[in-house]
Amino acid sequence: MTYHTILIVGGGNAGIAVAARLKLANKDLDVAIIEPSEKHYYQPGWTLVGGGSFPIQKTVRSQQSYIPSGVHWIKDKVVSFQPESNSLLTSSNTEISYDFLVVAPGIQLNWHLIKGLKETLGKNNVTSNYSFETAPYTFQCIRNFKAGQVAIFTSPSTVVKCAGAPQKIMYLAADYFRKHSMKEDAKIDFSTAGKKLFSIPKYADALQKVVDKYMIEVNYRHELIAVDGERKVATFRVTDETETTWEVKKKFDMLHVTPPQSAPDFISSSPLADTQGWVDVDKHTLQHKKFVNVFALGDAANTPNAKTGSAISKQAPVVAQNILLSIKGEHLKAVYDGYGSCPFIVGYGKLILAEFNYENIPKETFPFDQSKPRWTMWMLKKYFLPWYYWNRVLKGLS
Ligand SMILES: Cc1cc2nc3c(=O)[nH]c(=O)nc-3n(C[C@H](O)[C@H](O)[C@H](O)COP(=O)(O)OP(=O)(O)OC[C@H]3O[C@@H](n4cnc5c(N)ncnc54)[C@H](O)[C@@H]3O)c2cc1C
Repeated sequence: MTYHTILIVGGGNAGIAVAARLKLANKDLDVAIIEPSEKHYYQPGWTLVGGGSFPIQKTVRSQQSYIPSGVHWIKDKVVSFQPESNSLLTSSNTEISYDFLVVAPGIQLNWHLIKGLKETLGKNNVTSNYSFETAPYTFQCIRNFKAGQVAIFTSPSTVVKCAGAPQKIMYLAADYFRKHSMKEDAKIDFSTAGKKLFSIPKYADALQKVVDKYMIEVNYRHELIAVDGERKVATFRVTDETETTWEVKKKFDMLHVTPPQSAPDFISSSPLADTQGWVDVDKHTLQHKKFVNVFALGDAANTPNAKTGSAISKQAPVVAQNILLSIKGEHLKAVYDGYGSCPFIVGYGKLILAEFNYENIPKETFPFDQSKPRWTMWMLKKYFLPWYYWNRVLKGLS
């Protein structure tokens, strides 16, 4: 058995940000990260990649170069947790114990829940920005699209990371089609299992104007359940207000899929999970509700905020500070207010920056109405935020 004072599960956005902050606060702390991947991805860049506006190579870097100096990198996968004995087990059968545990393994993409999708994803004009491998293919599909054809964009009924991403790529595609003389000839269909465009009225109203402008047909309560890539047919389960369901088949020429998502299986089957499978933490202190030396943040935590990297920028300082206070035996003081943001790209050079808290109250950074599409916010997304991620967030400086 090996031991580390602070053990972090997952070296993605959340895990690295917390490790960096802990080491900045005290360089002598014994911190280890368990992370199987040699690559670190900037996932928010994949929307622009799919729109042909950002090179995919700029969204990936070596994990090694972002493990904060002095932090032990355990290149392995966690398979189970034994929080009663302050230990966990990895896939190489190594037991590791800790004083404090930070759980940040992200969300699980359940591609397999859509029948036929795995066989056809990345070909037959079936694509998804939710994967490094297929995000560049999205732009190929957009470029190959012709007047008179049908493009379908989907969104599942589950929680997803970046709830705006299923729509952002649709608006980029719509703008691209217009700029290539397909104003009324491109049929764009947003088939979503949701019941509205966005949960906050201010931004939902702004998005409705965008949908109207592009003449997008929105079909609510439509859950994608199967894809036949060769025949170019997508099957949806439709549910009405009385919960009656039936199936609808739609022909497409291009299909952008947002896969159903869930807590990772090794989390849902662990003693750390709530009834839905997410890590069960206090939504303000991010401390586990049962095991006081366990904290969680990022997409795997059950905090009811939008699952985004922007939320992690506010959560990471809270987790780091509360662990440092716990080490000193003091009360937890740092509090997360549910902040999240969604940079809604609504066309090339146009972005609505939604920012809000747990109460779904807009918490806008800039002194202007952020629900209006702006070029400056597009510049922020395209140039500033990637720089900020690699140079500030992952260094614990955000
Ligand atoms: C297309 C797309 C667009 C997005 N756009 C935005 C945006 O505009 N703005 C925004 O703020 N956010 C956006 N996001 C969301 C953002 O990328 C995520 O919310 C963020 O990456 C979550 O961070 P995380 O650390 O929780 O998970 P991740 O960054 O996914 O990291 C999880 C890490 O845990 C590791 N791991 C998994 N299982 C194990 C295991 N068993 N043991 C050990 N390690 C494990 C993984 O290898 C991974 O490195 C977008 C995401 C996508 C896909």
